[in-house]
Amino acid sequence: MKIVIASDHGGVDLKALLVKALSPVATVVDKGPADRASCDYPDYAALVATSVSAGEADFGILICRSGIGMGMCANRFQNVRAAICPTTETATVTRQHNGANVLCLGADFVSPEYAVEIAKTFISTPVDESERHVRRRIKLERACRLSDVSGLMRDDPDVFAAIKAQTEQEDTEINLIASENFCSRACREATGSVLTNKYAEGYPGKRWYSGCVPVDAVEELARKRACELFGAEHANVQPHCGSSANMAVYFATIKPGDTILSMSLDQGGHLSHGSPVNFSGKLYNIVPYTVDKTTETLDYDALERQALEVKPKILLAGASAYPRKIDFKRIREICDKVGCIMMVDMAHIAGLVAGGQHESPVPYADFVTTTTHKTLRGPRGGLVLCKEKYAKALDSAVFPGMQGGPLENVIAAKAVCFREAMQPEFKAYAAQIVKNCQVLCKTIQDRGYRIVSGGTDNHLFLVDVHSHGMTGKDAAAALDAAGIVVNKNTIPYDTESPFKTSGIRVGTASVTTRGMKEAEMIKIGTWIADVLDNIGDTAVQERVKSAARALVADFPVP
Ligand SMILES: *Cc1c(COP(=O)(O)O)cnc(C)c1O
Repeated sequence: MKIVIASDHGGVDLKALLVKALSPVATVVDKGPADRASCDYPDYAALVATSVSAGEADFGILICRSGIGMGMCANRFQNVRAAICPTTETATVTRQHNGANVLCLGADFVSPEYAVEIAKTFISTPVDESERHVRRRIKLERACRLSDVSGLMRDDPDVFAAIKAQTEQEDTEINLIASENFCSRACREATGSVLTNKYAEGYPGKRWYSGCVPVDAVEELARKRACELFGAEHANVQPHCGSSANMAVYFATIKPGDTILSMSLDQGGHLSHGSPVNFSGKLYNIVPYTVDKTTETLDYDALERQALEVKPKILLAGASAYPRKIDFKRIREICDKVGCIMMVDMAHIAGLVAGGQHESPVPYADFVTTTTHKTLRGPRGGLVLCKEKYAKALDSAVFPGMQGGPLENVIAAKAVCFREAMQPEFKAYAAQIVKNCQVLCKTIQDRGYRIVSGGTDNHLFLVDVHSHGMTGKDAAAALDAAGIVVNKNTIPYDTESPFKTSGIRVGTASVTTRGMKEAEMIKIGTWIADVLDNIGDTAVQERVKSAARALVADFPVP
């Protein structure tokens, strides 16, 4: 057992006594002060609290004249639960119920002998693991997620109101938007950190500004982790988003007017793969490929014939609304026959790739781009991976080619995300996303709704609602009114306009992050079908809305 102990000048003598009394039963680290010279209690409280917060010690002990100031300071640190205990009884109860891990003592209000008894009681009382206490401790730690931004309540109430509304929305709705997720608190902390203050044009070790030692360390860490996670030769972690990651690859490899063969936007491709309203469609000659009309899946032989005819400079694979696995090996063969660059945009499936639920494009592709905020569950941002031979061209396309200073706070959060994705739990998470998706899809299918391509292999599926006489727009609006959030989406060979559409896109990354499993998917799928079966019925919507709200209450957002 390891205990860190500190005091202010008022608690030095009691501290010395406690160190002596506890040393036979624990490793006691004395963080000071060494003498009775006047000092400031928050300095010493912070030393102990950081140590306990980081998990370096099992317990902390803090002593000042009342114990109160020490307790106030220590409790501002995550994972610290500091308790001011004037008696052995309070020490027992706070250990059992609150799982207190820092003991605060008031040297003026307990005798030295009794203080030793309180400390011994505190460190020897086990935490009560019964359900209600565990639940309350989890709530205590989350302390209503608004505590993360509680400073804004006073400093900027208008911005605070928007964040509060988003928090409430996340806490009360079922989010099935396939491109969204909930990143970890650690990711949010890095995103909100002081790293946003630093200008760092250039790359680690080669910056245009001074003072880049800390951000160099964080960007190097992010690059290294990205390469390790995906088995890549080179990573650029600076693109602000997925679209700029794609822009970087185009800028690094081809010239305006060159041909890109990419998946048609209305069949699942992305805006930045050549939409006429996007820079990609304005700068390059875009030739779209489509899915097979009957199977609604990619026909690689047809794609090969088209590629040999079109002779693109880049063959781009990857999509925003394709529910099936993509055969990257086959696409490599096509690229080799054509002699073109193979680029894969894995924005949607990056988390499945990291978690071993989808074959990785990295061994095959010249360039792999991705967002970090979809199934990968990191901060909103972009990433490019490539073979070493393209590293220089890629890096100069990003900076100075198209961006100025990188967002080092977001890059830090990307580093956090990559580390999280390397943990064994992330593999289980990715597997659960796919399992949940299949169960949710089948539940809706069994209620008579046609699923595009007949099912799903990944984190999303498309429901053809047109076959039930409604548009995707109407379906999404009805579900929204019932507390279930999806998006309208075109389906292959859609006869409706992109503003109305014939489908909805449903994804399971977010609900899986909340800890939902197959049983919850059956409930949600049933509710979706109930709402769609009774499209104009507000009573059904209200019933589902309260049921949805009750369900998500048991699955808190991180
Ligand atoms: C989401 C997505 C992007 C772009 O993401 P932004 O960060 O919004 O620019 C790029 N490609 C695909 C396939 C996507 O799904």
